[in-house]
Formats: sequence, C-alpha cells, structure tokens
Amino acid sequence: MAERQEAASGSSALSQWPRLLGECHEEWAAAAASNTPVHWRLSARMQGVDLRGPKPFVDLQAQAKLGLVCQRCLGAVEMAVQATRTLRFEPDEATAAAEDANAQEDVLALTPAPDWAALVEDELLLAMPPLPVHDTCPAGVWETYTRPPASVPWAEQAAPAVSAAAASNADLPARKPSPFAVLAGLRTPET
Ligand SMILES: [Zn+2]
Repeated sequence: MAERQEAASGSSALSQWPRLLGECHEEWAAAAASNTPVHWRLSARMQGVDLRGPKPFVDLQAQAKLGLVCQRCLGAVEMAVQATRTLRFEPDEATAAAEDANAQEDVLALTPAPDWAALVEDELLLAMPPLPVHDTCPAGVWETYTRPPASVPWAEQAAPAVSAAAASNADLPARKPSPFAVLAGLRTPET
C-alpha cells in the first residue's frame, strides 16, 4: 500500500464508534449518534529515515463534531474534534518497539495487521479537549443547577406566614394559620 502511495478515506456514523460515543453527552448521543459522521483519511507513502532505506509511513487524519459534556453546566457542547498523526511501520512488534523509543513519529508493527478503525478512534480520543465548556452556557441550563425552581410552593409561601406572625401575635387567630402553627398544634396536646 505504501509503495503504491495509496490513500483511503471514508466516514461512518458515530454510533459505530463506541469509545467516542462513551465520551459524548448521553442525551445528545441518543439524538445524534446515528446521523453524525466520523470522517477519516489514511494516506500511505515511503520515506527514508536512515541508511537502511525508505520505510512505510501512513498519515492519519480524522474529524468529527461531537457533543461533549460541558464541565460548567453539564449540558451538551458541540465541538469539532480533529486529529492528525504520522505513523511509521516496521515489520514486527519487536522492531517497532525498539524504533519507537528513538523516533519522533509513532512506530507501529505491520504484523499483526494494524486495526485502522481503532487507530482513528485512539487519535480522536487524544484530540478531545480536556475541559470542554460552552463559550456561554445556556441560561436555562445554568439556573437549573444554581437556583431552586420558582414553582416550589413552600419557597414562596413560608416566608410571608412567618413575617406576619412576627409582626403581631394578636392578629394570629384572625388570620389563616401558618403551616408552622398547624404543626405546633399537633405537637402540643390541648388541655
Ligand atoms: Zn455549559
């Protein structure tokens, strides 16, 4: 493949990439995984690295728009993740491991045959931002996590009842009893 300078490219749905999917916001993934493409391209070439002659190289490119979990509001934040990596190949794992220590590029073995899909997935995982956040978090999402919902009845009604009781004890019998007064009555048996 490398000697003929072949290239291969394609795309498949995010639902086919379980490790990428695992990094995505759950609700976003449920809605988007089947129609969000992951694009990849592999192009092979021969390049000389030393006096032993040219070696096979593969330039890997991958790109996907992923709905990651915003680390500020925990909502989905869509981000374009792009990976570029140059891979060099040696005939077997022992040679690859020895060469990898000295080489600038990643050196992999040709035997056993490389799992190209796993390599593409590896590179996209490495290219993800470590702390994905919205530029500006959606206001509704942010309030959900910082304030109680406005419709909680006790939050609105308890305060006026308490302040009315404090203002004048004499008024209490004429007013509708506060929830606290009802509770006090239950606790103290009448004589
Ligand atoms: Zn956010």
